[in-house]
Amino acid sequence: MTPTCAGPGCPEPALSFSRGCWNHTDRQAYPQALREGLAQSAGALTLNLKRASLENVDLSQRDLSGSAFSQTRLNGCSFVGSVLAGCDFTAARVSNCDFVGADAPRASFAHATISLVSFSHADLTGALLADAHLGETDFTGALLAGATLWNADLTGAKHIKKRSFGQAAAGVSEKDALPACETYRSLKHYFYGAGLYEDAGWAAYRERRMERLHYRRTGNPLYLPSLLMDILSGYTEKPNRVILSSLGAIILYGLLYYALQVPQAVASPGGSVSVVDSVYFSFITFTTVGFGDFVPQPVAAFRLLVVTEAFMGPFMIGLYLFTLTRRYAAG
Ligand SMILES: [Zn+2]
Repeated sequence: MTPTCAGPGCPEPALSFSRGCWNHTDRQAYPQALREGLAQSAGALTLNLKRASLENVDLSQRDLSGSAFSQTRLNGCSFVGSVLAGCDFTAARVSNCDFVGADAPRASFAHATISLVSFSHADLTGALLADAHLGETDFTGALLAGATLWNADLTGAKHIKKRSFGQAAAGVSEKDALPACETYRSLKHYFYGAGLYEDAGWAAYRERRMERLHYRRTGNPLYLPSLLMDILSGYTEKPNRVILSSLGAIILYGLLYYALQVPQAVASPGGSVSVVDSVYFSFITFTTVGFGDFVPQPVAAFRLLVVTEAFMGPFMIGLYLFTLTRRYAAG
């Protein structure tokens, strides 16, 4: 536990290597005291540097897990290769700092203002970046799986990719559906802006999934149409799903036609038809080809059934073209 500040009636915890908080510490002498303290202890350290203002302090290659940097001003400091698990940088102002290769899972940069900073190859798994302002921040090779980026300003963020979100693109923190949905939406815009259309498609798909999760949790009736659009086309991001769901529909209709003996061969009216003939009839109905070698039995219910399939076919073909066009003509 960090002792409280020695200042009269001050409830703040004392800074590491000082008896007072930043307000009750000699600000001129403190950075030197910090450097000497760091030089003397080589092992793991849990620092309290809350609200301090530090320039050019070398904190690289150290285990600083759980340290507090909240509301700290850090300029020109190095955290290269440091372990920063669970560190608190909430509302910190971080500029010209280096976090290359830092191991910072679950660190919080919420509300932080970050500029001219490199997180290259840093591990930010499960990190909190909500409401963070990212100006000129490099994320090359950084890991952001399960991170919270809600409301973060990504304007200056560089090199965030689908890949940044982990194996099989695990995504951002999806604990709360609505913030996750909004996060994917801003990632989608970010990816479009960076010309990463496939990554944008991924974010768009996840955005819709989160929206559907929110519909389910709130009992919104839009849940079912949303689920249907996912199955039929992956929210118009997955053309293969249109093909698969179309084939599925054709086979299901075909089996239903066979069970009910809906079609009849024009060559032998009233006769029974095989499974193959029924699926074939289903296929030419779906595609609205209608060769005329098989026609429905003259029963009203059968005609209605055939009409629903004939209506679905062009709709699915249109959906396929739309999905394919979106994929290849994005941007
Ligand atoms: Zn104090």
